[in-house]
This record gives sequence, C-alpha cells and structure tokens, in this order.
Amino acid sequence: MESVLGMNHTVSVYIHIPLCIKKCAYCDFASYPGRLPQQDAYIDAVCREIRAQAAFFGRRRVATVFLGGGTPTLLTAEQLSRIMDALRECFDLLPDAEITMEGNPGTLSPDRLAAYRASGVNRLSLGVQSMDDGLLAAIGRIHTAEQAEEAVRMARGAGFDNLNLDLMYGLPGQTPAQWESTLRAAIALGPEHLSCYSLILEEGTLLHRQVEEGSCAPLPDEDALDEMDAITARLTAQAGYAQYEVSNYARPGRECRHNIVYWECLPYLGVGCAAHGDMDGRRYEHTVDFAQYLEDCDDAACLNSAEGNNTLEERMFERAMMGLRMVRGMDAARFERDFGRRAQDVWPRTMEKMTRMGLIDPQTADDAGVYNERIRLTPRGMQVMNGVLVEMMEEQEKGG
Ligand code: SF4
Repeated sequence: MESVLGMNHTVSVYIHIPLCIKKCAYCDFASYPGRLPQQDAYIDAVCREIRAQAAFFGRRRVATVFLGGGTPTLLTAEQLSRIMDALRECFDLLPDAEITMEGNPGTLSPDRLAAYRASGVNRLSLGVQSMDDGLLAAIGRIHTAEQAEEAVRMARGAGFDNLNLDLMYGLPGQTPAQWESTLRAAIALGPEHLSCYSLILEEGTLLHRQVEEGSCAPLPDEDALDEMDAITARLTAQAGYAQYEVSNYARPGRECRHNIVYWECLPYLGVGCAAHGDMDGRRYEHTVDFAQYLEDCDDAACLNSAEGNNTLEERMFERAMMGLRMVRGMDAARFERDFGRRAQDVWPRTMEKMTRMGLIDPQTADDAGVYNERIRLTPRGMQVMNGVLVEMMEEQEKGG
C-alpha cells in the first residue's frame, strides 16, 4: 500500500458543513437546519479539528480541498477565512490547489462570493437541481430557477471561472421534455462542469414517504429514465462536455480533481461532523451527532474512530467499484502494485464474461489479454455497472 500512502504524496481535504436553512424532501445527507445558531461554534470546532488532524497525521501537501454540505455558502466571509487560515497554518496548500465550495443559489450575495474568492476558493459547485420552479418546490428547494441564473451571474462577477452545476433528474412527475429543458437551460449558463444525478429515493426522507403514500406525483418509469439518460448524453456531447464519470461531465481540463481522488481511492482527510477520512491505510468516520462532534472535534479518539480498517478483499473491491465509475476506468497497474495481484486474477471469471459480452473494453489489454494499465467499461458496461459489480462481489466471496 505504500506507493499511494507515503508521506510524499499529496492528500485532499474534505470539510463538511452540515448546516442548511431547510431540509430538502429527498435529502438524507448529514445536514441539520436546527443548528444554525451554533454555526460559529461549529466553525471553531472545525478549525480545532484541522489542527488536531495535522498534529496526528503531520504537515501534508494538500492538492485539493472540498467544502461540502449541507450548505457551505451559509458561512460568513470571516468564518470561511478562519477555516482557510487554519488549513494554511497546518498544511502546505499547493499553489495550484483546487479549492471547491458547494453553494445553494438561495444563499448567495456578490459580496460574500467575492470574499470567498479572495480567501482562495477557486471552484464553485452550485446545487441548481432543476430549472423548473414547480419541480424545485416539489422537492423542497429554497430557491427558484431565476435565483440559479442569478447565482451564476454573481459567481462570474466575483471572478469564479470554474463552475459546476449539480442537476437532478427522475424527479416526481418529471417528463423527459422537462429534463431536456432543464439541461438546455443549465448548459446555456455556460458552466465548466455538470453533474447530472438520477434521484435516489432514500428511506426515511420526506419524499420517500410521499411516494409511498402516493401524495406526490409518481416517479418517472424506467423508459422515461432511459430517455433522460439519452438526452443527457446527447446534449452534453453537443455542447462540448465530455463524460468522465457515471454522472459527471466536463469541458477539457475541468474535471473535478477532488472527486477523482475518491474514485481513484487516494488518501484524503475528512473534517467535520459526519465526515469520513482515509489516511495512511486508516479509515475513520466522525459522529453524525452534531453536539457530540462539538465536544469531540479535537479528540484523538474521535480522529481514530475507525470504521474498521478494511480487509484486503474489501479494499480491492472498493478500488474496482470506484475506479470503474470513471470513463478512463480503474488503474490496473496501481492495483497490482498495491495489492500484489492483478485485478484480472482476482475476478477472472467475471472479467472474461464481461469482455465476451462487450462490457469491458478489450482495447486496454495487450496481445496476451493482460490489462497492464487501465481496465475500463464500455458505454454499455457503464449502463449495467451495478450488475457487473454484483458479479465481481459474488466471485470474490466464492474465493475467485
Ligand atoms: S441543501 Fe443539500 S444538504 Fe441541505 S437539505 Fe437540501 S439537499 Fe440536503
């Protein structure tokens, strides 16, 4: 494992801001609307944790930072500046570090955006979700489509030249034509990056209950979802965005470096309530209990609250599961270096079958059928990726 975990490698930092104005109907993220009065105490806790993490893991070189949520754009300029100061004090933030902040279009102002930019944030990821006000209201978003447009204008005015728009499809009652119109409107705003996620109905959410009760419009059926996928592929390609992951599309060179760290299973520090980290082979997962986090944020026991340092088998499967999400596929050479086995020797039957079915791209194999560099799924393979992963898991469990 040393090759990716050595001290000389850069790391990434994720900072979770679990504060929101109101819970969206579909949301099962760790976000707590009732905790807004403790925002300042939370930022103090995050800064304390950053210092504790640096004391624990050492002064690392940081290549990407991602402030996610929740709603990081609820932070005041001063609060963000405290976090950035703590990061710079404790770590070597590389001069070209990608520093992303997630934002809700209902929480922005030109002054605040300019202050974020001045603090070093150089990528903004806006949770637009839909450009249809009826659908936005149906899923409980606090903003309108017009506010999303205004958010993009404000971000450009504040100097952000790297923007992502998060969009969701498969919403209650949504038709393919409505999705097409949202996607066209989003593309017209000229973002560098688009994330197009299919709604996942999570148990315990308001939307899940509404769907079960039949008190909201029905979810689109499989045919409609397939049509929406086809619309996404067509419109993004026409507009010059290349798909580089199951749900992500970017203009050349504008792929999200931070998310690629997750998909490549590279090391990252997780800071904040409910954050996860994966450092030096050590996994940890912070409490989702907001009050508990405020107490434990700089406690070594908290930093070390390992969710279990995964077995080699689990790590190998995770590497494949994450890597195959990317259009460029998983890094077969690094897999072999880190685990001492070739991926095709871990999953020989599945890989042979998937290659025969045209789900794995044979072009990355050499004449002897050995995947020396990357193993990637074909477009058809990406569509049925869950089935591919189930077969891999079953083969691994049987000791393949
Ligand atoms: S803004 Fe995001 S994190 Fe907050 S409730 Fe809505 S979906 Fe959840």
